[in-house]
Amino acid sequence: MQIQSLYQEIILDHYRNPHHKGLRDPYDAEVHHVNPTCGDEVTLRVSLKDADGGPVVTDVSYDALGCSISQASASIMADLVIGKPVSEAMAISQEFLELMQSKGTAEPDEDVLEDAVAFAGVSKYPARIKCALLGWMAWKDATSQALDEEAGLPS
Ligand code: ZN
Repeated sequence: MQIQSLYQEIILDHYRNPHHKGLRDPYDAEVHHVNPTCGDEVTLRVSLKDADGGPVVTDVSYDALGCSISQASASIMADLVIGKPVSEAMAISQEFLELMQSKGTAEPDEDVLEDAVAFAGVSKYPARIKCALLGWMAWKDATSQALDEEAGLPS
């Protein structure tokens, strides 16, 4: 099987059977992000907990509308960040952002990005990059809001 069709298969799989989809309680922050160029929308909630090494992502729940790329990307993002320390999840998010900005030239690291390597080809199509990044940007935004809120609370 060619790598491009394998990647397409991964994206379609997540689109048809999205992981962690649906909005859940409790949560620390909720955001709504829109990609006007394609019409994709995502509402995303993040739940964090304090651990010895810093905050950990306990849950990411979301409701997404739009194209297969935006929805599959949200599903894969949730798989990648749930259960991880926020610092590690932020590093994965940065790696994905760099892949999306590579214009198809980056060799994606499958150990870090897992199923998200399937979007490598998307980086060649500027119009679709925002679709692939929507869920990740929403997650980053919700997480920084949750962290700000925590920092503002009296201990
Ligand atoms: Zn889209």
